[in-house]
Amino acid sequence: MPAKTGAQYISRLSEMSTEVWIRGERIEDVTTHPALRNGVRSVADLYDMQLDPGLREEMTYASPTDGEPVGLSFLIPRTVEDLERRRAMMTRWAWSSCGMMARTPDFLNVAITAWAGGAEYFGQNRPEFKKNVLDYYEFIRENDITLTHTLVNLQKSRIPGMADNLDEQVALTVMRETDAGIIVKGSRMLATLGPITDEIAVYPTRSHLLGDNAWRQAFSFSIPCDTPGVKFMCRESLDQGRSHFDHPLGSRFEEMDAVVFFDDVLVPWERVFLLGDVDMCNNHGNATQMNTHTGHQVTTRCVVKAEFILGLAGQMVETLGSEQLDHVQERMGELVCYLEILKACVRASEADAKLNEWGVMCPSAAPLVAGRNLFPRMMYPRMAEIIQILGSSSLMALPSEADFDTALTPEVERYLATDNSSARDRARLFHLAWDVTCSSFGGRQVLYERFFGGDPVRNSISLSHNYDRGPAMARVREFLERPD
Ligand SMILES: Cc1cc2nc3c(=O)[nH]c(=O)nc-3n(C[C@H](O)[C@H](O)[C@H](O)COP(=O)(O)OP(=O)(O)OC[C@H]3O[C@@H](n4cnc5c(N)ncnc54)[C@H](O)[C@@H]3O)c2cc1C
Repeated sequence: MPAKTGAQYISRLSEMSTEVWIRGERIEDVTTHPALRNGVRSVADLYDMQLDPGLREEMTYASPTDGEPVGLSFLIPRTVEDLERRRAMMTRWAWSSCGMMARTPDFLNVAITAWAGGAEYFGQNRPEFKKNVLDYYEFIRENDITLTHTLVNLQKSRIPGMADNLDEQVALTVMRETDAGIIVKGSRMLATLGPITDEIAVYPTRSHLLGDNAWRQAFSFSIPCDTPGVKFMCRESLDQGRSHFDHPLGSRFEEMDAVVFFDDVLVPWERVFLLGDVDMCNNHGNATQMNTHTGHQVTTRCVVKAEFILGLAGQMVETLGSEQLDHVQERMGELVCYLEILKACVRASEADAKLNEWGVMCPSAAPLVAGRNLFPRMMYPRMAEIIQILGSSSLMALPSEADFDTALTPEVERYLATDNSSARDRARLFHLAWDVTCSSFGGRQVLYERFFGGDPVRNSISLSHNYDRGPAMARVREFLERPD
């Protein structure tokens, strides 16, 4: 079956009976509900790109099953050219939302494709799990399944250390095994995009290691979102039903985050990929190099977002006529550095890519880990801060679209124009800046970038443990021992 269209994505979603709750209401149809429908439209636009005659070559490749075009993010890369080609496709999807929709389907497509490339790993847990992974990969590729994932357990209390403090009353736990599959109960957070996807993948993450005794919380599986007992509880929607002029981002790119409750959910055996082995669960992301493949997708998107922020800042200072001020130029230079560092991380990861033991071409991990550590902690929050500093009260002296059609309009047009811009163009631009950095949509963007890749503190600790600093320390010893 070929890659799906936007219309097919929407019609599949509306036929599902996924249990989605928002503000005390059970949503009947996520594709028409005001909280979600514009986000659905934006995801549908991504799928339409795949079969656009002018883009098909760039966005798809021939299915190994039947030769039909399937999404390029399902390609198991065998060469550096494959990685570059996949990056071009992911870049185009990222530009569709200027990097603001982070959980576009390519993220999970490359994750599960990496599992398929390293399917032997899963077979070491139980032989049948290798087949389960390969069958699942083929199923999602051939049906262009849209996935969410949820990795982190809710916690009742936090203790120092790399492992989460899991309470079986709260964390997602295997209750029992039956002939049909495993029964799981508990909760997970968050599933970004979850309410508007077909399937939910549930697996562990290195940034929240499972402790030695957590074998009942050690598993990996994927099931349809409308499996009985799966319930999504959404946060408040950031799409407030306003125009593209007033809320240019929130009115388009609501990707929704949800807590997921599992109420005695049956996971069929053919959908179980790992079970009961804490070490195998903790290590699967590195062993299959899923982490470097998702890192490649994430950093590619971050490049797009950094370029968009640089462009936005450039438009703002030109509109305000502030571009000659020293401190403005210094901050513009800072934004350029962030963009170029991120681009370098992606290119270095491709230049130093290597085949893994299963013949999959994997981007080099170190530059991607560096980018993924710096972007959430330093770069993106600072980019948002720079937009606020450059925008100042222009982010508040902000007429809405309706203010250009009232008795007040002559004053709005006279007093809010600048030497370089009409009042209307200025307002349109600064609504965008406001949605990037001041609105609830903008606030969630900063929070997302800080945390979506796991706890940044524990990610840094893990980098410090795993990076080989031996050669650097040897240089220092060598210097200290230099003869006088
Ligand atoms: C907008 C958004 C979208 C997300 N989307 C997804 C998604 O799609 N899928 C998914 O699986 N997850 C998602 N997440 C969840 C994300 O993975 C977690 O938020 C992240 O791993 C941090 O875990 P936590 O929220 O439980 O942090 P907490 O444990 O609540 O941490 C709170 C603070 O305490 C510190 N802290 C806590 N425990 C320790 C410790 N032991 N050692 C050192 N410091 C500690 C943390 O550094 C942090 O600053 C999303 C999160 C956000 C905010």
